Amino acid sequence: MKEKIWLSSPHMGGGEQKYVQEAFNSNWVAPLGPNVNGFEKDLENYVNKDSKVACLSSGTAALHLALILSGVSNNDEVICQSMTFSASANPIVYLDAKPVFIDSETTTWNMCPVALEEAIIDRIKNGKKPRAIIVVHLYGMPAQMNKIKEISNKYEITLIEDAAEALGSIYKGQKCGTFGDFGVLSFNGNKIITTSGGGALVCRNEKVKQKAIFLATQARDTAPHYQHSHIGYNYRMSNIVAGIGRGQMEVLDKHIGLRRENNAFYQELFKNIEGITVFVEPNKDYFSNHWLSAIMIDEVLTGFSREDLRLALEKENIESRPLWKPMHLQPVFKDYLYFGSNNAEKIFKNGLCLPSGSNLTDLEKERIASVIQFFI
Ligand SMILES: *Cc1c(COP(=O)(O)O)cnc(C)c1O
Repeated sequence: MKEKIWLSSPHMGGGEQKYVQEAFNSNWVAPLGPNVNGFEKDLENYVNKDSKVACLSSGTAALHLALILSGVSNNDEVICQSMTFSASANPIVYLDAKPVFIDSETTTWNMCPVALEEAIIDRIKNGKKPRAIIVVHLYGMPAQMNKIKEISNKYEITLIEDAAEALGSIYKGQKCGTFGDFGVLSFNGNKIITTSGGGALVCRNEKVKQKAIFLATQARDTAPHYQHSHIGYNYRMSNIVAGIGRGQMEVLDKHIGLRRENNAFYQELFKNIEGITVFVEPNKDYFSNHWLSAIMIDEVLTGFSREDLRLALEKENIESRPLWKPMHLQPVFKDYLYFGSNNAEKIFKNGLCLPSGSNLTDLEKERIASVIQFFI
């Protein structure tokens, strides 16, 4: 069996172990310490100097805290992009609130502004003004942030940006994760940088960041004994994990460049193949980190489905994956409201993510190209 080609696997830069070793040398083996502070500073400098970043145990934890800090509680409604990973929606249900799912538009595959406004108007008419909006930048592609932000401002609804897949992506000169009232980052195993597991909440100011850290460290009041006036969580990032993050920050832009090269490779590979389009930025306002490269297959023109291609790749030990199955089609979320038409459903049906790691070698690319060319 040929060696496995992964969709996206961890890619260490070399500097990580130095920071981890420092943590051991100074005995900062705890969910706080110099690496956590350093990683937060690195991220703040990277996304935008006016943002304040709190490092947490996961992106999911960051979303949970963003919702709590937005004042979401039981029976509230929260708007959420349907086409996404389940972690975008699960924290809404942790709070006994109700997700209201929104369709995608076809250029960025992210939240459709028209369906968003339709949903807001409908819910206000029903006396259920949504508490927050969760917009996602899928596969690194920025959503139509000008329109989404305009709507959130117009109706005065808190905007949470799930930028778990979009660290380093840019819309109109501004980094993803800094448009909303909150931004969410993830450093899980297959993301553009990984700390083995971890996440961060991007906040608009220091006061909000401190509130997030307070909740993430069991909500201890200032007192010599353990005193609590709020329910707390154990969501802070470990100093070991943050050491990996500091090393990864040193190679982030290089790795984005490599992922973008993968995308260019797929554009070249499919450029003369009728019925297959590579997912790319709609225009110069968008800069995607191309965390994952994806294609759309028109079955009528190609004569095969995305599943046919996926199985052909799998046979050669090459991992590919269907796009995120929309949340409103998931058994666990089927009873919640949904606004829009069937764009997300169609994108899911015909889309496929291809190997996209920044550590993909030229030889591996050749293998992928020859399997695909032979299959077609
Ligand atoms: C990975 C991911 C998350 C969750 O992040 P974790 O760090 O794995 O908890 C949330 N939303 C999206 C869109 C993701 O891809």
